[in-house]
Amino acid sequence: MESFIKLPPYENPRDWLTAYLRRRARLASCESDFQCDPACARPGCKNKDLQIQVSVIDLLGAALHLKEPVTAIYSRFYTLGLFLEERDAWLRTVAVKLEKPCPFLENGLCGIYPVRPLPCILFPEYLVWQGTFEEKAGAEHFRDFLCLKQPIPLSPARAEIMGELMRMWARESLISSFFLFNHGPCRLDFGNLTGELLQAAAASGSAAAPERPEPTRTIPHPVLERFFHERLAGFPPFAEIGDKMEQLQTLEGQAQFLRLFQDDRLYRKLKGSCDDRAVVFRLVKGKLRAKKRSLISPAHKCY
Ligand code: SF4
Repeated sequence: MESFIKLPPYENPRDWLTAYLRRRARLASCESDFQCDPACARPGCKNKDLQIQVSVIDLLGAALHLKEPVTAIYSRFYTLGLFLEERDAWLRTVAVKLEKPCPFLENGLCGIYPVRPLPCILFPEYLVWQGTFEEKAGAEHFRDFLCLKQPIPLSPARAEIMGELMRMWARESLISSFFLFNHGPCRLDFGNLTGELLQAAAASGSAAAPERPEPTRTIPHPVLERFFHERLAGFPPFAEIGDKMEQLQTLEGQAQFLRLFQDDRLYRKLKGSCDDRAVVFRLVKGKLRAKKRSLISPAHKCY
């Protein structure tokens, strides 16, 4: 079992959660030399183009911190969103995300700072840790980020802690998807819906006309998300998100999630099947159908 979940057993899952969140918050700043620029206008919290995925632990943490039911905070502050898959322009991963601009931002400060989502903790140091700082810092959607205008220090001790935080995120995101949708990462393939999507994009006035040759580049993300919410989110497993929040509302539901979270065999299995036997959903003849398929390109397979 990985060290970060080796916490003493607690009778009440909320005690375990509190201890885990405390540990996460301690690691967030431990050995870090990074500090936000005081002049920062919080573009990461405000910009709608930047999506912030959250885990079940993030949801439960916010509910604990705000002393509100998780069902209430989910419907006010979060929604299902689509996340880009870099290897295939038509694939998106479905996950829970924060609404944007982030509703927790109050007078330029994070209203849930001690339990803020792990992706908020990881930014921007993870770019240095991943070795993508140079490439990403120049991207158009990061142009207002003062913190990306100069190099970010990352000591060897901090790099080690970043590794631990990244492993925490890998586990949190994977087990959350399994709990919410009964699969590891849940992908949608829009490749067979190009005609409908181009029409939707043209109707919304946000993309070029359907005769444009490269449709993958002409369909803005909001059009895809709107299509998802109007046409696909009503099918299982996405339609059950409200029931899952109800479940998380109970101690029994929280204990069930934490049992999954601590199950090393399950985690290894989900991790192992992520790319080679990925579950991919497609809308076919008005129904959402799931199929397992490899996302590894033949060039990268070992036989
Ligand atoms: S949760 Fe806090 S840090 Fe994260 S986007 Fe919202 S306000 Fe910003």
